[in-house]
Formats: sequence, structure tokens, C-alpha cells
Amino acid sequence: MARTDVIVLGAGIVGASAALHLAKRGLAVALVERGVPGEGTSFGNAGIIEGNTFFPYPFPTDPATILRIALKRATEANYHLSVLPTLLPWLLAYFRAGRPDRMFEFAHGMRPLFDSALAEHEALLRDSGAEKYLRRNGWLKVYRSQASFEATRSDLDAVAKAGIAFEPLPREGALALEPGLAPVFACGVYWPTAASLSNPGAVTRAFTGHFSALGGILLKGDARTLHRADGRWRVDTDAGSVDAPQAVVALGPWAADVLGPLGLKLPLQVKRGYHLHFRPRGNRGLNRPVLDADVGYVVAPMEQGLRLTTGAEFAHRDAPPTPVQFDRLLPAARDLFPLGEAIEQTPWMGSRPCFPDSRPVIGRAPGLSGLWLDYGHAHWGLTLGPSSGRLLAEMMTDATPFCDPRPYAAERFL
Ligand SMILES: Cc1cc2nc3c(=O)[nH]c(=O)nc-3n(C[C@H](O)[C@H](O)[C@H](O)COP(=O)(O)OP(=O)(O)OC[C@H]3O[C@@H](n4cnc5c(N)ncnc54)[C@H](O)[C@@H]3O)c2cc1C
Repeated sequence: MARTDVIVLGAGIVGASAALHLAKRGLAVALVERGVPGEGTSFGNAGIIEGNTFFPYPFPTDPATILRIALKRATEANYHLSVLPTLLPWLLAYFRAGRPDRMFEFAHGMRPLFDSALAEHEALLRDSGAEKYLRRNGWLKVYRSQASFEATRSDLDAVAKAGIAFEPLPREGALALEPGLAPVFACGVYWPTAASLSNPGAVTRAFTGHFSALGGILLKGDARTLHRADGRWRVDTDAGSVDAPQAVVALGPWAADVLGPLGLKLPLQVKRGYHLHFRPRGNRGLNRPVLDADVGYVVAPMEQGLRLTTGAEFAHRDAPPTPVQFDRLLPAARDLFPLGEAIEQTPWMGSRPCFPDSRPVIGRAPGLSGLWLDYGHAHWGLTLGPSSGRLLAEMMTDATPFCDPRPYAAERFL
């Protein structure tokens, strides 16, 4: 095989974006994927490019919510008892990351990636001929009661101070944006600078298509074969073994399968999530993704239908699916949204790759010369894939990074 400068492992939105950024800078890149590009976690999300995100999802502190989750009655979260022994240290770290000073640390550390998210998507979508999937019409959060909206006030004050645009709306204002909703909620907040994709899996495929057009090589192979050979990184693929002086782990929830055997243990946990598509009822549809904030799920209009995505499920990544949240939330969802019959029998399941401080790792793998990391984008991997890919490519090519990479360094866990 011809000279390879970099092996990128994993062709989700994060790996595809990184590979594309590296190829655009003239490097010879091999992108190694065991399945079909864009069919991992990046396939089934809600499609929201959430440049507006300021604070991460905090550990719940309200006793009523904790009790509902513990009793497995919560609509927004579920858990498997079997995961608790391994999950507890992670949960404790997640709880600590919910302190106000740590929330602001996330907000300030992550702002450059979120601020640039839409522009970086637009650039890659344009280059890849995939602009048709982009909707620049924001997203909407609706609140079932005025009280639940008021509970977000202090967060909104911080968001306003940071200069992020949003518009609180009375019910009529939200209905004017989304006439398909039933008037069973009190009010909403519109986030005009967010955008969304009507087919996230197709976008990742378009990125890998453009990567190939630039001369990048897409190979089928198992990243777990990564090892050092003659001072380089080598991986086995269907086309034979490939080696390069540098490699990037962009395997999302599967990163530890490769890093663990190399001796690098970072505290990644998955928050699993599900989706189902529904036909719209009559001629009522949606124009953009909508969050039912009190019940904790999103409905997003997709090419495949109205996609209902669930909140977090704490379970072992490979444990059999348990999509019980649908039974809990569907009555409320059918009241609010124009959901007709379900299109699939079985829900799709994916795993959000999450560090306890909700930040990804982007940068060098400590102690493993020539190895780079780009994973752990939690609830925002679709949003942050392109901006993370740019940052990583700038670091790898010794260009001046467009933002300070220190908040994403893996060393924060060591
Ligand atoms: C229900 C749900 C809703 C979401 N909604 C949003 C949203 O609206 N907006 C947003 O920004 N984010 C959202 N997310 C989060 C987002 O989808 C993820 O953060 C993102 O997809 C992670 O991308 P990734 O490329 O890191 O991982 P993945 O897409 O999982 O890619 C990893 C790739 O590695 C490959 N791989 C794994 N093991 C191997 C191996 N051994 N060898 C070779 N290849 C391997 C996999 O096949 C896969 O293609 C949501 C997630 C879920 C679950």
C-alpha cells in the first residue's frame, strides 16, 4: 500500500470529520471502520447541531426526580441494576462535575467548540455536497408548566450573559413556529442559532465520500488489531495491514476496546439512547426538532419519519436493549406531537460516549507516542464532530489551533 501518514480508527461523525480535515491538509489518511460508515451512534441521534449548549446535563439533585429514577418510573432516564457496581465511581465524578464552578468550567472550556460548530458543519456539508440535509431554523424546547420554565431561569440568565441568542415564547408563539403541536404545554424557548440535519447517517456517509474523493482511503478492518510495529502504528484490514507514524482513536463508545489493551484507562461510560420513527398524523408535521423538557425526550423530523429519541439509559454498552422508556413516555408524546403509527417494530439503540465532566478528549494519548484521541462527545457528538476534527487536525499538523485545546486534554483524568 502507498505511504500512509495517519490511520483514523472509526468512521462515525467524529472520525469522518477528523479524517476529512486531515486529508484537506494534504495528509495521506486511511480511515478504518469495521462496519458501514455513519451507522454507529452517529446514525440515530436527534440531528440537532446544538451550538447553543452552555451547561452540560447535570446530575439530578431534586429528591423527587432521584426517587422516580431509582424506582424506574422516570421517563427521562433508565438504568440496569447490573451496571451499578462499575458505574458508581463514574456517577460520583459526574455528581461532583455538577457543582456550579465545574458547570462554568465546562461552559467556558467548551464554548469555542460549540461557537464554531455550525460554521464547521456548513463548510464540510458544502464541500461534501450534503447541504440539502441542513435546516437552519433552530430548535424549540417546550415546558408543560410555567413553573418548570421558571426553574431554568438562572441557567437562561447565564446563557444571556454569554451572548447566546434565545427567545422565550408564550404557548401561542411556540404554536406559531410548530402548528403541528397540541396546546398541552405552557410555554417554550426558541433557540434560533441552532440547526438540524434531516439524516445524520447520510451526512457522515457524504463526509466519507468526500474524503475518498480527496484521495483518502476507506478500509474495512478491526481497530482492536492496532499495535506498535517497527516504531509505527499498524492495523489489520481486509486489504492487508496498514501502518503509519500517527493514528487517531475516534471510536466513540468503543474507544476503550483499543486503549485498554494499550494500558490507557480513561473514565468513559455510556448513556444509551433509543429512537423510533412515526408517521405524521394527517398533514401535521414538524419543522424542526422539539424537546418536551418536562418529560425528557425529543421528536425530530427526519427523512425516515418523525424520530422520537429517548434520554439516558445507564447499562453495559453491550447488554441487550431494554427500551422501556417508550412505554413510560409515549402517552405524553402522543398528546403533544402528531404521532401516527410507528414505522419500525424494534427501536434503534445507540450509546453516547460520556466522560464524567461531559467534555470530550481531543489531543495526544498520554504515554503513547504518535497516538491521538478524539472521542467522548457525549450528547453533542453530531454537533461537535466537525469542530473537533478541525482542532485535532491543526494540532497534528503543528498549525495554530483555532482554540485552546487544554480543556480537552486526556491528562485531566490521570
Ligand atoms: C438517542 C441519541 C440522541 C442524540 N442526539 C444528538 C443530537 O441531537 N445532537 C448531537 O450533537 N448529538 C446527539 N447525540 C450524540 C451523538 O450521536 C454522539 O455523540 C456521536 O454520534 C458520537 O459519534 P462518534 O463518531 O464518536 O461515535 P460513533 O458514531 O459510534 O462512531 C464510532 C465508529 O467506530 C466504529 N467501530 C467500533 N468499534 C470498531 C472496531 N473495533 N474496529 C473498527 N471500527 C469500529 C463503529 O462501527 C462506529 O462507526 C445523540 C445520541 C443518542 C444515542
